[in-house]
Amino acid sequence: MNILLLGSGGREHALAWKLAQSPSCTKLYAAPGNPGIAEEAELVALDATNHAAVIAFCKAHEIALVVVGPEAPLVDGLGDSLRIESVPVFGPSKDAAQLEGSKGFTKDLCERAGIPTAGYVRTSSLKQALEALDRFDPPYVLKADGLAAGKGVVIAETWSEAEAALEDMFGGTFGAAGAEVVIEEFLIGEEASFFALTDGSSIVPFGTAQDHKRVGDGDTGPNTGGMGAYSPAPVLTEELQARAMRKIIEPTVRTMAAEGMPYSGVLYAGLMLTADGPKLIEYNARFGDPECQVLMMRLDDDLAWIMWLCARGELDQLGSGSPKFDAATALTVVMAAKGYPGTPEKGGTIDLDGAESEGAKVFHAGTALKDGQLIANGGRVLNVTARGRNVSEAQAAAYRAVAAIDFPSGFCRRDIGWREVERERS
Ligand code: ATP
Repeated sequence: MNILLLGSGGREHALAWKLAQSPSCTKLYAAPGNPGIAEEAELVALDATNHAAVIAFCKAHEIALVVVGPEAPLVDGLGDSLRIESVPVFGPSKDAAQLEGSKGFTKDLCERAGIPTAGYVRTSSLKQALEALDRFDPPYVLKADGLAAGKGVVIAETWSEAEAALEDMFGGTFGAAGAEVVIEEFLIGEEASFFALTDGSSIVPFGTAQDHKRVGDGDTGPNTGGMGAYSPAPVLTEELQARAMRKIIEPTVRTMAAEGMPYSGVLYAGLMLTADGPKLIEYNARFGDPECQVLMMRLDDDLAWIMWLCARGELDQLGSGSPKFDAATALTVVMAAKGYPGTPEKGGTIDLDGAESEGAKVFHAGTALKDGQLIANGGRVLNVTARGRNVSEAQAAAYRAVAAIDFPSGFCRRDIGWREVERERS
């Protein structure tokens, strides 16, 4: 089949790499892509916000499957526009994508479906929010309702910090995304990511991962889109995964379908592993970046076929034993341009020679080609991904590949996977 992949990050390079290896994929197109994706797919200049242009391309090129990488086109209803034209799409409808697009929506759904999550109040004015704050103990968890590129959450240690953050949020820092603010109970535990694929009725687990959001070693400094990840996440034991499926994923999928918003695509649950069991922190309507890179490094299956079944509502046709993942651990180290997550330095030269010699794979995120030279063109630039028998081995392999990369204006964390490495040592 012919496939169109939308997006331009490391997540999409990993998807392109796996789709291109899929026996069911005849021809892969990607828009807008990046220099790494260009090695796997034919790049086309398509704007995902122009639904008519995407549809016209799909018709002209007999596209049997559209894979939407990032959340914005989904929340914007691209999935609906394609489905109206009978183009199978991997990714939810606009209504279903509210699971990521509106934190208030998801909290209300959890309440209706009895899904374990932090206690919360939805507020739509500063006055209401300040009144609600009194019902919580510090630290205060404040969340702009809409999409804010991972920057819409403030954990305030004191009442006055919370007040200042709420003033900012209602003052328009996050634009329309901050017109509503959700205030939540602070949960204590370790975070882990759980992935499931669903076509609205059938559900299959699709792996676990843990990521590192902070820019600095030891999980210090400002938040980023993610500085590294590994999969599987041993903290999410088989027992905890089964519990997350039963108490969180299944009731979500059932309730969405029953309420006329069947969810189709990947459901990415951010979980807090509390003393009372896993609780839902958030849903994402797409793969995580860089979690996708480690999942794809381990997937030992025909991704195109799995996504196609999912898009067509035929996930029940998936053979037993599928989706199959390699038992090995995969770990990815993000190399970012100096200045990230503030203003990253653009244009720094990159030489990748030798980085993949030991079975590592370098996924491109913010790269560009200038006169044949690979350069940095974004905050997160490369995802250096390797496998090992455990996190310690995968970590060592990934950093060996990092050492082979010449990227003078780049930097990376030196401790991706540290929590698990410590556990493996003890
Ligand atoms: P992302 O960058 O993953 O898209 P987001 O902006 O959608 O994030 P959340 O994932 O809801 O927001 O929250 C961001 C981070 O804040 C979480 O990864 C977690 O570390 C912390 N957090 C969120 N909610 C809570 C909570 N109730 N208790 C404790 N920590 C929380």
